[in-house]
Amino acid sequence: MAIDPESPLDKLWQEYGRVFHDFDDLTLARWLAQTLGQLKGRAWRLSHPLLGAYRLAAQIAHDRQIWLQRLATPPPAYTEAACCRAPLLPLLTRDVLESGLVCQHCSATAVPLEEIPAELQSSLKSWAEEYAPVHAVAHWEDRQRKSVGDYDRAYENAARETERLLAQAGAQIAPKFLDFYPAIVWEDQDECMEVRPEDIPL
Ligand SMILES: [Zn+2]
Repeated sequence: MAIDPESPLDKLWQEYGRVFHDFDDLTLARWLAQTLGQLKGRAWRLSHPLLGAYRLAAQIAHDRQIWLQRLATPPPAYTEAACCRAPLLPLLTRDVLESGLVCQHCSATAVPLEEIPAELQSSLKSWAEEYAPVHAVAHWEDRQRKSVGDYDRAYENAARETERLLAQAGAQIAPKFLDFYPAIVWEDQDECMEVRPEDIPL
């Protein structure tokens, strides 16, 4: 999730984010706290516009250390993230086995895998273990590509599998997190497999 200053898409998001630079600290803190109230109780697509706006504001708030100043009170359901002490709003990605759940404020690991509630771990692990070899098709070397004969078809099949697995994450796995977290975000795309949010209807 690191920002690449050369990426046209990241440049566009930086342009979108300028609106929050004009907010003073108190206004920004209140906007975040109020929006957290509206995010509560749902599993959110990473691509959702409200979540996108929240993430932009949250990253600017992180740069300004807004949460450490205690200018506004977030809804009490949100605990403090260990990574940066912002309210915990975790992101579920295909890299969950290595990276755990990712913080929407500082982009670090907010919840390491071993601290994810045990009730969620087994379905999460089997999902991520199923996902990894499917995703790996995008990164096959020439030798592997040639070994299957028709690589385009193998890639196409893997892309369809990716869509199915992401739909499973959004429809079945992410909602279970709401028993433990006030809100959860799930990554609804896979850039290596060219799977976009609109390819994953729920
Ligand atoms: Zn954080």
